[in-house]
Amino acid sequence: MSATKAIAEDTTATFTGWASTGSLPLKKFSYHPRPLGSKDVEVEISHCGICGSDVHTMTSGWGELSGPCITGHEIVGTVVKAGPESVRQVGDLVGIGAIVDACGECKDCKAGFDQLCHKATFTYNATYHDSGAKSYGGYADRVRVNSRYAHKIPSEISAAEAAPLLCAGVTTYTPLKHFGAGPGKRVGVMGIGGLGHLAIQWAAALKADEVVAISTSDNKREEAKKLGATKFVNSRNEAERKAARHSLDILLLTSNDKNTDWAELIDYVANHGTLVLLALPEIPTIAVPPSSLLMRHVSIAGSLIGGWKITQEMLEFAAKTGVRPWIEKMPMSDANAAIKHMMEGRPRYRIVMETEAAARLQKH
Ligand SMILES: [Zn+2]
Ligand SMILES: [Zn+2]
Repeated sequence: MSATKAIAEDTTATFTGWASTGSLPLKKFSYHPRPLGSKDVEVEISHCGICGSDVHTMTSGWGELSGPCITGHEIVGTVVKAGPESVRQVGDLVGIGAIVDACGECKDCKAGFDQLCHKATFTYNATYHDSGAKSYGGYADRVRVNSRYAHKIPSEISAAEAAPLLCAGVTTYTPLKHFGAGPGKRVGVMGIGGLGHLAIQWAAALKADEVVAISTSDNKREEAKKLGATKFVNSRNEAERKAARHSLDILLLTSNDKNTDWAELIDYVANHGTLVLLALPEIPTIAVPPSSLLMRHVSIAGSLIGGWKITQEMLEFAAKTGVRPWIEKMPMSDANAAIKHMMEGRPRYRIVMETEAAARLQKH
């Protein structure tokens, strides 16, 4: 005999957001959150960035949804309720990224890679391992999470600018730290968008010898320099591409799809260098010419967001160095217009949606 465990929900509370059931447009959707646990906080959301992952998810690009899904994992807001063992207090300005739970005890959790934990719970379109409750993201008025994953926002960073740091920021900061970006290293960033414009800034702030921005057109040449790139390569310009061959110790690849030319990308990487994938495409496999790896000891690596420890470190580093996302603010009440703007590839470089709570923020 097996019994289905009832999923506890707090029927005294109703949160409302913009949900997808697998296609656009997003529609208004309300749900009862999980009961406020002793370590949990309830956050009144003032800002939420729009990440590429949100779009892949809401349009079923990564697979069918199991039910209405509120996306959004670049969440900033104010703590309005806190359980007795919460590490945050009512009134704190906090940020929530792409994971909201992990076991805290396994090898990966202890090593600061809690995003790889077997019990890691993504912020939306996922299920909590302990309770079976569904997780809902930040295109909403409120959210409840374990306070450990509600990161304290340093006072130097505005609430709106903090939002993209929670996913785009940590997704780019983590591999740069992991692969040793800094003096003596030449860093490349392929693709200047939501992720890339932060990656360039981090690499410059980490004092890499070279920060090379690579793009498929000249459109972003001047902006790349403003972001801190020491060099710009238009990958469609044969002379520039050839001059950059075998020159990068670390190359961050901010997006890839079925048209990605892997041989060309690997050609930019120096002997012993690493090409790091930061984004999951909507295709299941990639085809890489093996000789391009063997003959020059080039590695291909993947990197998934970042754990809670490095997320907090990244926020402090941004506060100290002045790294900030370039954002366009749009009202969350017009979420579908914001998504359209995002899908047309027009934002420079990250859209941050604001709720009515943004006007009530005091200090930030
Ligand atoms: Zn994201
Ligand atoms: Zn774990």
